[in-house]
Amino acid sequence: MSFATLLLVIAGMLMIGISGLIIAHPTLKSASSPAIAVASANPKDVITRNYDIRYPVFGVEKVDTALKAFAVKKTDEFIAKLGDKKYDRNNRLVLRYAVVHHGARTATVVFYQQEIRSDQPVVLSQSMMTYDLQTQSELKIGDILKGDPNTFFGLLFYDYFKQYPPEGFTQTQFFNLLGFTTDAIQGFWLGDDTLTVQFNSHQLSDRTSFKTIQIKKRVVSDVLKPEYQADDKGSNMSLSDPEYTIDVRPKPADEIDPTQKMLALTFDDGPGGHTNRVLDALAKYRAHGTFFVIGRQVPGHADILQRMVNGGNEVGNHSWDHAQLPGLSTGRLDQEIGDTQRAISDATGGYVPTQMRPPYGALDSGVAGYIHGHGLKVALWNVDTEDWLHRDAGLMYNSIMGSAADGRVILLHDIHPTSVEAVERAIPDLVAQGYQLVTMSQLERYR
Ligand code: ZN
Repeated sequence: MSFATLLLVIAGMLMIGISGLIIAHPTLKSASSPAIAVASANPKDVITRNYDIRYPVFGVEKVDTALKAFAVKKTDEFIAKLGDKKYDRNNRLVLRYAVVHHGARTATVVFYQQEIRSDQPVVLSQSMMTYDLQTQSELKIGDILKGDPNTFFGLLFYDYFKQYPPEGFTQTQFFNLLGFTTDAIQGFWLGDDTLTVQFNSHQLSDRTSFKTIQIKKRVVSDVLKPEYQADDKGSNMSLSDPEYTIDVRPKPADEIDPTQKMLALTFDDGPGGHTNRVLDALAKYRAHGTFFVIGRQVPGHADILQRMVNGGNEVGNHSWDHAQLPGLSTGRLDQEIGDTQRAISDATGGYVPTQMRPPYGALDSGVAGYIHGHGLKVALWNVDTEDWLHRDAGLMYNSIMGSAADGRVILLHDIHPTSVEAVERAIPDLVAQGYQLVTMSQLERYR
């Protein structure tokens, strides 16, 4: 299809009133488009002139067969819908297309369908298909990606839209990005140096029109399969200016911005039966916490300790059996603190805590000397939720939210289900308020 023909197609679509689709500013970046023939698939046994069905022919057998099959299927579906009225001259079907990209490796076609029926409102729809011209097969987004594209795109979009929130974006939609799956991508195309994905997504906006996100290829180079990295011999037609262009890689999950506010959630007296819920909530919102564990509870919960460490959380020492440490002999402190250090290291394959929180915050010079002499820091707090006393999730939630401030260390207990429920509610709200939920050691480094 020539440039002129393309413009005629586009102009024609505009004139027949397809609005709200993504064809506002068609431009061709390259005039050296390989020859693409146009075929039509007008049906028989109906009023033929009421059908204007067109599809491209690339000269690639299986791709051309698939495109023709698509056009015929759309036509058959329309005729089936008409039933007895298929001879009504007021019923019309228009199927037009645009070749969005045509390179050596891939080609992307958008079909625009307009169904006009005498007894119904006009129905407009759009379908985008991308083909691998070498394997002669249709590509879904998962076919061009490797690794874990869900997590990659989730973090990419989360970071981007945190900075540039789309109009009408809700907090829920924002957090849904962290659970992103590529199923939400309706179509895509590979340009010279971009991967453009299209959503019909309520994840991105309450507005129902398609959303287009253009991502620079260098940003997706880690997840784009090598054979799709370079397809730069092609011609590209920008269907519209993309709503969003992403040219920065997502931050690593544990990167901290020192200029933004941060606080530390700390969980004492575990691990226990509810600790995994806290870990789930932290992981879901890319947050981290510090767990001051009781040494004697560690050997039976090595899996939880490993999860803490692997998730980027901090594990601290909270004595072997929650003893009052002041006045204890060095030998007893070796048991309370030293044995706990060893238990944590054994359970995690070598993680060595650097933070010690004495039970009840009880210290004397002997205990403080022992702690510092063994490479540990005393880790106290500046917000006590008294969650052991108030077993009320709503009250605890209010206590956390009410005391949140930059640099705060909030004391909680992951052994109480009410506290865990409050934390599950508070974490997304704290993140939404811009808090970075960091570990004790991270907080010390930056505050
Ligand atoms: Zn405690």
